[in-house]
Amino acid sequence: MNSVSYKYISGPKYHLRAGIHPYDGKQLGKDVKIRECMPGRELAYPLGGHIGMPAEPVVSNGDRVNVGNLIARGTGTLSINIHASVSGVVKEITPRLTASGSVYDSIIVENDGCYKSIAYAKKKRHYMHMKKSEIRNAIKDAGIAGMGGAGFPTHVKLTPENDSRIRFVIVNGAECEPYLTSDYRIMMEWPEKIVDGLLIMLSLFDNAEGIIAIEDNKNEAIILLNEVIKRKMHSLADIYKGRIRITSLKTKYPQGAERSLVYSLTGKKLNRDMLPAEAGCIIDNVGTVAAVYDAVCFGKPCIERVITVSGDGICHPGNYLVKTGTYYDEIISAAGGLKDKCSKIICGGPMMGRALYDIRVPVTKFSSGIVCFMEDDISQQEESACIRCGRCISVCQMGLAPLMINDMANECCECGCCTYVCPAKRRLTQSIAALKTSRKCERR
Ligand code: SF4
Ligand code: SF4
Repeated sequence: MNSVSYKYISGPKYHLRAGIHPYDGKQLGKDVKIRECMPGRELAYPLGGHIGMPAEPVVSNGDRVNVGNLIARGTGTLSINIHASVSGVVKEITPRLTASGSVYDSIIVENDGCYKSIAYAKKKRHYMHMKKSEIRNAIKDAGIAGMGGAGFPTHVKLTPENDSRIRFVIVNGAECEPYLTSDYRIMMEWPEKIVDGLLIMLSLFDNAEGIIAIEDNKNEAIILLNEVIKRKMHSLADIYKGRIRITSLKTKYPQGAERSLVYSLTGKKLNRDMLPAEAGCIIDNVGTVAAVYDAVCFGKPCIERVITVSGDGICHPGNYLVKTGTYYDEIISAAGGLKDKCSKIICGGPMMGRALYDIRVPVTKFSSGIVCFMEDDISQQEESACIRCGRCISVCQMGLAPLMINDMANECCECGCCTYVCPAKRRLTQSIAALKTSRKCERR
């Protein structure tokens, strides 16, 4: 580390007050290079699941599609386009289970195994020669939605009410969820894409500076990205010079949660009704930024993503480049399959993810990981009466009292810290999540 110039590296402005330090399990996959996982005979593309209205199919049974063809168009302000990630024939449009547990109408494509692709941009486009509206349209056309898991349409996020009020464009490389290492591998293997993607987003906001925020347990990524930034700065137009830097964040869960990140970098506190843009911030995860680069420079739609497959219950933990629509069971097979006594499979990370009861569900743009465990620690622990120890209060980054959550449920971001520390093994996060769901149902 000492041989590196840290001209482009800073520390956070504020430190996360609450949070926890769970076992991170990242050594299982962090040094394994991204491998490609090819899908099977059938792929499923759910029309919903992102924030906003479901997309509307533009194909019918029997239609031929190629890689990159639009198969469903985003409807309404918050929806996203969906594209085929293989070539083949549309078999049917039918309700299918997704990893969230919800059932959505899904376009089922039979893969012909040829991977015949539509032609994207004929040659590389340079964002500096594109208008802001062209950049935003390229991102919208590509159907990019927050690949960190939120599924918020990226073109909407990059179109705030007032561009001039945006002061920070933040690449979220914190990846604080235990076991997940896909963002780390993307930063290590595609650092140029991350820096170029950030410059593209920065070109939309004249008053903003760009920050790549990374936890300090990923020093190799900090060093590598620092080198890329230094190299690029020589060839960039003056308007970009000195406008981007890396912030090295203290490793602490949930450092990468949007509200935590805004606080660490700006000192501003967001509540449930506020978007980061109201604090002058645009935040995108590293996978999203790489997809923005591909969409703007090459016209490539969002049809694949890197997903972590990890945990002590999988034979070959690692990170896999997966086409959207691929079924989880096929990815698990590509990772060597489950160990004999694997007893729990989680979609996402162990803190914020959801346990799966069926692994025949498709990967979407916002599926970040599959974590498999031999022991289901939580279900084996007996829940008991609250002993009023106050630990759950001390770790809650939202400043809540999880034991008295009824009135405050909507503020909870379901980070899982309170459940993690509770000595009485109370399912605090799970009850809050259930409460929020039941309230949503009541309102319908
Ligand atoms: S951590 Fe658990 S036992 Fe302690 S106050 Fe919170 S709910 Fe009660
Ligand atoms: S109450 Fe919600 S935000 Fe607070 S620690 Fe528990 S899960 Fe996290």
